[in-house]
Order: sequence, then C-alpha cells, then structure tokens
Amino acid sequence: METTTQNIVIENIKNSKIDQVDFDNLAFGSVFTDHMLVCDYRNGAWEAPTIMPYQAISLEPSAKIFHYGQSIFEGMKAYKDADNNTFLFRPLDNHRRLNISAKRMAIPELPESLFMDGLKALIKLDEKWIPKKDGSALYIRPFMFASGKGFHASPADEYKFLICLAPSGAYFSGKVKVLIEEKYSRSANGGTGFAKAGGNYAGQFFPTQLAVEKGYNQVIWTDDHNHEFIEEAGAMNIFVRIDDTLITAPISDRILDGITRKSILQIAESEGIATEVRKFTVGEVVEAAENGRLKEMFGAGTAAVISPISTFGYRKVDHDLPEVQDSFASRLKKRIIDIQYNRVEDPFGWRHGI
Ligand SMILES: *Cc1c(COP(=O)(O)O)cnc(C)c1O
Repeated sequence: METTTQNIVIENIKNSKIDQVDFDNLAFGSVFTDHMLVCDYRNGAWEAPTIMPYQAISLEPSAKIFHYGQSIFEGMKAYKDADNNTFLFRPLDNHRRLNISAKRMAIPELPESLFMDGLKALIKLDEKWIPKKDGSALYIRPFMFASGKGFHASPADEYKFLICLAPSGAYFSGKVKVLIEEKYSRSANGGTGFAKAGGNYAGQFFPTQLAVEKGYNQVIWTDDHNHEFIEEAGAMNIFVRIDDTLITAPISDRILDGITRKSILQIAESEGIATEVRKFTVGEVVEAAENGRLKEMFGAGTAAVISPISTFGYRKVDHDLPEVQDSFASRLKKRIIDIQYNRVEDPFGWRHGI
C-alpha cells in the first residue's frame, strides 16, 4: 500500500487480469480493468479516495440509492496516440457537469482536484488497459450515489463516488432506425433532463422497448408539452442537416449539455459549415424529408461520437435518409477523433495529456 501526493491510498492488485482479455473483441462497457477508485462522503465532507482492486461493494438494504434514486454519472474516454501517450478529452467539462447533476439531485458536489487527481492516478495505474486498436479507447465511468441509510424520504447523509474503467472497441452502430416519440417524455420543464441522473435512463427503457418491438433501434425524444419539437436521440444529442445547414436544439431544462454536441458545433463553425442552434419541429423535418432537403440526421455522444440515422419513423410512415457523399457526419467525426487521438493539431485546447 502506498500514498500519493494527493493523499490517494493505492492498494495494488496481486495478479492482473489483463492476460484473460480479448482486446480484439471488446463489447462496450463489459470488461473492467484491475482497479477502481472509491471515495466516501461522511460527516459533511469527502474523505481521501482509495484506489483498490475492482470488486463488489457492500451497501445496507436501506441505502437511499435503492429507494429514492439519488444517483448520477459521467461518461468519458482515455485515448492512446501512436507514441503511446495518453489523453483525455475535455475532462474538466465532465467534472463541471457532474457537479451540475449533483446539485440537482441534492448530492454534495465533488472538488475538482479530487476528481482530476483521482482520475489521473487511476488511469496511470491501469494505463496498459487502454486499447491501441484503431477506434478503441478506455471508457471511463465516474459515478456518485446515496449510500447513507434510512427509509426517511430525504437526501442521504452519506455518498460514494467511484470511477471504474472499461476498455471498449470501436462502436459501429450499423443502420440506425429511430421512432419519433409522441406519447412518452424523457424529461420535462423543471425536471431532471439536464442532469446525468440514473433515473432519466430508467424512464427511457420502457418506451425504447416499445419502439424496439416495432422494429426501431431508438427513440427520438420530443418536447413533453406538445411533442412538437425534436430534442434528443435516445441518450444522445441530435443534429439534422437540412440543405447545407446543421441544426441542433438549444440546451434547456430538458436537454443534456453534451460535450460531443458542443465540440461538433465548434468544429463545424471552424470548418465553415453553417450551424443553427434553435428549436426545430417534427413538421419541419418531415417536410424537408418529403422534398429531399433533409440530407442527414445523427446522434452525438461520447460512446459512438456520431451515430448516423438511416430511417426515422413518424405516425406509421418511415422516412429514409439519403446516402450522402462526404457527409457532415463522417467529416466531423473524423476531425473530432483525430483530435482525441492526437493525430492533428488541437486549436481548441481540448486534449488533456496525462
Ligand atoms: C450523456 C448524454 C449525452 C451526450 O453527452 P456527451 O457529453 O457528449 O457524452 C446526450 N444526451 C443524454 C441524455 C446523455 O445522457
């Protein structure tokens, strides 16, 4: 056992599991590295974190996470370049968003130094787990939840912050068929849609299952009021290209402020692609599809970066997107990935070496 300068206690694993892993066939988020970081909030303060072997954790049955769902998370990645250097992508934005989510769910905020130092120490320790194959990366899952006990419906007095790491292969989604949702909502004004809260996902699963039964892969979320405005694509932000303009919905109470979304907007602007951040309606998109002006539609998020949509269904009619040469989706995805893997200049200052 050793202690780092940041007072992180490190308990090393005895025998690494890395030799048992088939790095050529990694499913997303299903293999975990040797270590994890655990940090407890007790008596009104975050304690020093411990990095320990990846293992099960034990909780009281009355832990409030099980009853009242105080649970939030982040999703980010670590990348290797050709010279074996390791990089994160805009990690301070993940920390900022974690605290925005924490505040909304009445969870205590986490200091930036604890997040960044803990993250870096853990990744350094499990650095050899970062896949080098093209398109592969180390998926990072920081999360926080109420571990304090008691059935009283109030915020817990104890919390846990953990970081777990999962080497993941390139994400090929294939042809994605989406269904525009008109009954269920992911979020509402004044709700928790802008927070990366576990409960937002729980509420999405059932409507998504119904869409899957109808032959779609994913749901397009519309506003909860009239189901008129297009807001998100599953758990990704959404972009549409009408003629040569790239359009995405503005961030609101209901829409998560994705780091991929805002990076795509900046890259598009720097490449001279016309962008519009504005509310847009289902009617506008259907009309554009009908008169051939809808060129592309894609989801944006850390896991897949950009996930092109091939068909959208609306009121029992399927609309196919055309095959576009030199699509915005492929251009923007290449540029963002090249920045993440240190293959091109990073004029935005997004890469974070560790
Ligand atoms: C995480 C998430 C996104 C994408 O955010 P990134 O920071 O780009 O990964 C978009 N929408 C929802 C609902 C999400 O949970």
